[in-house]
Amino acid sequence: MRDQYGRTIEYMRVSVTDRCNLRCVYCMPEKGVPSVPHNEILTFDEISRICRIGVSLGISRIRLTGGEPLVRKNLPELVGMIRRTPGVEQVSLTTNGILLKDNINELVSNGVKSVNVSIDTLDEQRYFETTRGGGLAEALKGLEAALDFPELTVKINCVLLAGQPQEDWIRLAGLAKDKKVDVRFIEMMPIGFGKQYAGAGQEKVMETLKNVFGEPKRYSGRLGNGPAVYVQFPGFRGKTGFISAVSHQFCSTCNRVRLTSTGILKPCLQYGGGTDLRKLIREGAEDSEVRENMEKAIYGKPAAHHFDGKISAAEEERENFETKDMSQIGG
Ligand code: SAM
Ligand code: SF4
Repeated sequence: MRDQYGRTIEYMRVSVTDRCNLRCVYCMPEKGVPSVPHNEILTFDEISRICRIGVSLGISRIRLTGGEPLVRKNLPELVGMIRRTPGVEQVSLTTNGILLKDNINELVSNGVKSVNVSIDTLDEQRYFETTRGGGLAEALKGLEAALDFPELTVKINCVLLAGQPQEDWIRLAGLAKDKKVDVRFIEMMPIGFGKQYAGAGQEKVMETLKNVFGEPKRYSGRLGNGPAVYVQFPGFRGKTGFISAVSHQFCSTCNRVRLTSTGILKPCLQYGGGTDLRKLIREGAEDSEVRENMEKAIYGKPAAHHFDGKISAAEEERENFETKDMSQIGG
């Protein structure tokens, strides 16, 4: 369906848990967040029902995320449930990769189409520090396991941190030279702990990569569900992408809404509140009532975020911005 600004909304990011087996510095506090009790998290049946109703409003692609989606028991089963919903064209997953090797067969057999693996550095020690204890080898095993399935689209997400050595960008981007993988550099967003970290800009990364890999070709075709801008370096199998929500705002073409693990439908990452679908469902609402509420929320999607900070304090207070961490909202 179209929202109040005429944007076609066709993509829903669904968080299946706020729990995670890592503690990335820009995403989660060191000791984790108090876990939401199990009964407050949407069941697989509730998630599938919301997806089915979403399809009737024009949602055709679903991405499962979190927290870490693979810490949720039997996640591949949910992939299958959503994939079998008539009208769902694609189910994809964003993961830190740690549990991917053990789950990839089942994910693929249940119809997952694309997997994004988040890896910010190929340096073991820096990975350990950024994730507060994560093992790079496990994440890489997950990545390799996914790459063993030629039918799967595999991408790497790297969040850019100021002060990160250029070597990190070069080594990560270099993975796309021989492997069928796209590597995307993501600008740090001022959400939750991200506010405490300065990010690096895409121009600086691009300049560094050009010096090493040569002049890239701009890729103008559509890849994936989102706003990434892609280039391809000479002789590379995969592409290099940039997602820069703050410095290169793409709100005018935004096609997505988010469903939190507790059932809040959020039309924009930066705005707090949202529509409580869990409450509606658990109070016995018919599909038509859930649909009406989803439609209203999607139609009312805000025009844009204000991550650039160009907004007065009074306006900011009125706008009711999100105060939760990325892992709680669903990244
Ligand atoms: N645990 C999974 C993972 O790490 O891929 C899925 C959830 S995580 C919140 C989804 C993505 O959001 C990851 O690529 C992560 O690096 C990114 N992310 C987290 N906080 C962010 C921030 N403040 N700005 C930009 N990206 C962020
Ligand atoms: Fe966990 Fe992903 Fe957040 Fe890292 S970015 S703490 S892996 S949810």
